[in-house]
Amino acid sequence: MENKGKTLIVIGGGAAGFFCAVNAAKNNPSLKVVIVEKSSKLLSKVKVSGGGRCNVTHHCFDIDELIRKYPRGQHFLKKAFHHFNTIHTIQWFEERGIALKTEADGRMFPQSNTSQTIIDCLLKEANLNGVEVMMNADVKQLSKDAGLFRLQLADDRQLEADYVCIACGGISKPEHFSWLQQLGHTIESPVPSLFTFNMPGNSITTLMGVSVENAIVKITGTKLSQQGPVLITHWGMSGPAVLKLSAYSARELAQMQYHFSILINWLPQYNEQSLKEAWQGLRNQLAALAIGNKNPFGLPARLWQYFLQQADINMETRWAAITAKQQNKLIQILTAQSFEVKGKTTFKEEFVTCGGIKLSEINASTMQSRVVPDLFFAGEIMDVDGITGGFNFQHAWTSGWIAGKAIAEAAFSNR
Ligand SMILES: Cc1cc2nc3c(=O)[nH]c(=O)nc-3n(C[C@H](O)[C@H](O)[C@H](O)COP(=O)(O)OP(=O)(O)OC[C@H]3O[C@@H](n4cnc5c(N)ncnc54)[C@H](O)[C@@H]3O)c2cc1C
Repeated sequence: MENKGKTLIVIGGGAAGFFCAVNAAKNNPSLKVVIVEKSSKLLSKVKVSGGGRCNVTHHCFDIDELIRKYPRGQHFLKKAFHHFNTIHTIQWFEERGIALKTEADGRMFPQSNTSQTIIDCLLKEANLNGVEVMMNADVKQLSKDAGLFRLQLADDRQLEADYVCIACGGISKPEHFSWLQQLGHTIESPVPSLFTFNMPGNSITTLMGVSVENAIVKITGTKLSQQGPVLITHWGMSGPAVLKLSAYSARELAQMQYHFSILINWLPQYNEQSLKEAWQGLRNQLAALAIGNKNPFGLPARLWQYFLQQADINMETRWAAITAKQQNKLIQILTAQSFEVKGKTTFKEEFVTCGGIKLSEINASTMQSRVVPDLFFAGEIMDVDGITGGFNFQHAWTSGWIAGKAIAEAAFSNR
């Protein structure tokens, strides 16, 4: 059955490319596996990821819950995660002596606390399984002729392969990927995901560093909203709720050219009406106390004082003495404060591209192209992206593993 001489070329030496290569080589030792990487560095994003600690995956073991962490690709991932999910990732690294630990928010890191552990593991695995690596090899053209792929590199070198897995990361400029379109694939236009909101000149930015544990951020005039921690920065707003909103609304916000307004409910347990109803009770209870000193909602003191200023309420005013106008203004600020957003800032800790190879053109159980036989995809090149927390690497491991296994099996079989 052995098919000596079959070659797999994996384009891209990142997380997905390595996972495809090492698993293909392990599953089929007769397969010659070569990673071609355009730069002089391997696994460079793994190195810087998670602040140098590599947030490998997320402590989430329910597939229906897991897929909801991906603004794009949920249906596709539901199938893929049945083959390889977070549990398999943890096992895969454990079997190679790498224990992962879970932080309070569910993010999982190597116990060593350094991404180098993951890099060393993948390099060792490549070495053990005889995976070859070509650096400074920038693929510029890919074609298929008489059942064989031909790859043209930027320096005019030519390579040939029976199987190709494209794992070259997020497509930021489609014009660099015309070779993929020439093969017959469609690229969903790329736009950034995972960014923070700029609010130039807004007085709230003077409170930089202040965070609120639970708020709802909504894009005005839409149904798009997210709930979670919000962090005030010197340029605007960040924090998990904002990052999630940027991801789930990536296409809409790109269309608005990143100029829109948001409403923040700083007290998600209330809406404007229910807070109005609760107000009388608070007012009676706190009547004699100065409002500046008594913040019954557990909001950070600096933020509470800022809200009072915005509602034209003096800190010394007793709760019982607040006028109806002041009260209504404060309630409106607390439950639906409006901000103008003008522009975005890349979230340096983790950013990904929304867009990539159209998913209907890829088989989720093998990662094989439905357009070109023996062509496979893995990682961010596909139109899949997750929110922060280890979900993007999980997709890289899942798709890389599935592609590697499918290629190994295809190379065994008599075609
Ligand atoms: C700063 C930062 C931190 C991050 N932190 C996390 C995190 O902690 N957890 C998480 O889940 N996600 C994180 N992410 C996202 C995650 O890194 C990516 O989703 C993941 O690396 C995608 O893997 P990939 O292999 O598909 O692509 P990449 O890691 O981008 O690898 C693609 C490789 O292909 C090469 N390449 C591209 N074009 C060609 C070509 N034509 N020929 C040859 N080679 C080519 C590139 O040079 C690159 O080495 C982070 C992203 C960034 C930018």
